Amino acid sequence: MSVQNVLDLIKEKNIEFVDFRFIDLSGRAHHITLPASEVEAETFVNGVAFDGSSIPGFRGIEESDMVMMPDAETAYVDPFTAHSTLIIMSNIHTPDGERYERDPRSIAHKAEEYLQQAGVGTDAFFAPESEFFIFDEVRYESTMNSSSFFVDSEEAAWNTNRKEDGGNLGFKVGVKGGYVPVAPVDSQQDIRSEMVRLLQESGLRVERHHHEVATAGQAEINFRFDTLTKTADNLMKYKYIVHNTARQYGKVATFMPKPMFGDNGSGMHVHMSIFNEGTPLFWEKGAYANLSEIALNYIGGILYHAPALIAITNPSTNSFKRLVPGYEAPVNLVFSKGNRSAAVRIPVAAVTPKGCRIEFRTPDSTANPYLAFAAMLMAGLDGIKRKIDPRALGYGPFDTNIYELSDEEKKEIRSVPGTLDEALDALEADYAFLTEGGVFTKEFIDNYVGFKRAEAKSVAIRVHPHEYGLYFDC
Ligand code: GLN
Ligand code: MG
Ligand code: MG
Ligand code: MG
Repeated sequence: MSVQNVLDLIKEKNIEFVDFRFIDLSGRAHHITLPASEVEAETFVNGVAFDGSSIPGFRGIEESDMVMMPDAETAYVDPFTAHSTLIIMSNIHTPDGERYERDPRSIAHKAEEYLQQAGVGTDAFFAPESEFFIFDEVRYESTMNSSSFFVDSEEAAWNTNRKEDGGNLGFKVGVKGGYVPVAPVDSQQDIRSEMVRLLQESGLRVERHHHEVATAGQAEINFRFDTLTKTADNLMKYKYIVHNTARQYGKVATFMPKPMFGDNGSGMHVHMSIFNEGTPLFWEKGAYANLSEIALNYIGGILYHAPALIAITNPSTNSFKRLVPGYEAPVNLVFSKGNRSAAVRIPVAAVTPKGCRIEFRTPDSTANPYLAFAAMLMAGLDGIKRKIDPRALGYGPFDTNIYELSDEEKKEIRSVPGTLDEALDALEADYAFLTEGGVFTKEFIDNYVGFKRAEAKSVAIRVHPHEYGLYFDC
């Protein structure tokens, strides 16, 4: 959509307001709204000013003036506002007209430019599977305050859930029992379908939706792959519509990776592939999982850099409560055709040459998608550039049950970092692959690490309810 298209649309659809949005360091959207009568072609040239000093992780108070430069192509009508409102995503510029180096969208764009220079292929495609929970607002409160903090087994978690829900026990979903049952067990068909309808109305091509494995209304909606920045924009739209549809139903949706102890968490598996002028580069018929050398090297780059990468793809303290054995979340830094405990899985069912892709299963939706997709692409491209062979480095393939390997064999397998601080240590030790071509800068990474360390510390110094269970009677 061009600027002229946007101005025409405002007239045609009687748009009353235009909502300009930008993304902060943690991947949250912020907005400033202008009456549509104030929006003209110049708005797209001069931008919309805001105070960068009030945005966590951005500028200091002494240089606070920032400008949103709207990207007309991203415009869509807000399905929730009482007054018809057009939403437009923006890039952030400094008052001098430079792109702001901490703007996540700027990094996503730089990563796409780097792909063009790298000479590997013309297009990199991304498709995230962003899982989430839908809770009753009341139930969410009760989860926060209840004894479920103290449960230390799946069985206890199951009993707690049954007790708290009350009524209709015959059709309750047990712990890890939620994968695709029909109604009345699945009680959220309508709310997911409404989310899908609004996503479609807002321009997203949705492929499917389903109830996920966990109890208590875990859901997943899949939309079609696209290029890096577009997919990150799509994910922002997805989260906005999921959150606000839930609210319309008197519910809350959360993308936090592990809201419930003792049950599956929510991941954001990311499927990736590279094409050159329409030719898929990851496909080689007859090879292991029909994967080309380029695809293997891409996997090599992802796995080799995974500990550092995870500081960006799993950037919350809660992320590491999901990355534990037993819940289909990956723990092992290996690749495999089918194994869901592997960090990289290669889907093989119903896959065509064009559909041939790799799935990085570690990420979760607390990631800033612009930074996460950019960092994954940089890790994969580094693998291709340095011809990193994941087989030679002991990353698999492992198609057997990893838990059944001998202790000797298991010792060879590397694991994901155990905490956010460990991942940040890894990022500080291994960041050169991100600064290639100036995509991420050292200044950006230092600021990011400092920001996330403060977050980790804020959690570590707080007294946790579980500590009462462990220590109160000492
Ligand atoms: N919820 C799981 C995770 O945390 C994935 C489950 C699935 O999609 N099969 O990654
Ligand atoms: Mg899925
Ligand atoms: Mg899933
Ligand atoms: Mg998946």
